[in-house]
Amino acid sequence: MRVVELIMALRAAGIVDKAVLGALERVPRDVFVTNEFTKRAYENRALPIACGQTISQPFVVAMMTEALCLTPRLKVLEIGTGSGYQSAVLSHLSRRVYTIERYRTLLKSADARFEQLRLRNIVTRLGDGMKGWPEQDEFDRIIVTAGTQVCPPALLSQLCEGGLLVAPIGPPDGQFVTVFRREGDVFHQHKLAPVRFVPLIAGIASAL
Ligand code: SAH
Repeated sequence: MRVVELIMALRAAGIVDKAVLGALERVPRDVFVTNEFTKRAYENRALPIACGQTISQPFVVAMMTEALCLTPRLKVLEIGTGSGYQSAVLSHLSRRVYTIERYRTLLKSADARFEQLRLRNIVTRLGDGMKGWPEQDEFDRIIVTAGTQVCPPALLSQLCEGGLLVAPIGPPDGQFVTVFRREGDVFHQHKLAPVRFVPLIAGIASAL
């Protein structure tokens, strides 16, 4: 499979936003998978990466990105850098991407990929994403790419007025991509689609 075939598969699966499809077309997914999976990089599937984690399925990346309703001026926070693939997609559609990962090994590889692809508007940090990035002002958009029963309150509190947060919410076998929209102290929510993500885990990983 090549990237054009992946884009056709995403269209067939219902992704309509041209900017989102364009961003996925620009990101070489083969750079984000381990060598043994290079040949399968453009299949519409999640694949294993280091530290027992996964690079998300392209359809899920596209669906969650579409749900963020991005414009080039927006500041985005991502929790769960993983391979860096989702961050790279976001970097083409927003002003700046702040991304947090709890595994040092994954973060180092992702940093090297951003450097290789000259994606200069991505800022990374090793940390517990459940706490958000409190040194920063509020974010226009937040995306969580690990599953959680409830959305961490620290993340909701870092969302600006009118901002959108997209996350896989629910028990491990019953997660739904959920969109939260802030209106004052109220967070309007709606569910988009069932998904299965690796869990959001508190704290920095003690293993590398
Ligand atoms: N967006 C990634 C998906 C990676 S899977 C990609 O495109 O490849 C989810 C990632 O979330 C894993 O790398 C996992 O280590 C990370 N994660 C889980 N809990 C976390 C937390 N509390 N803070 C930061 N990262 C976390």
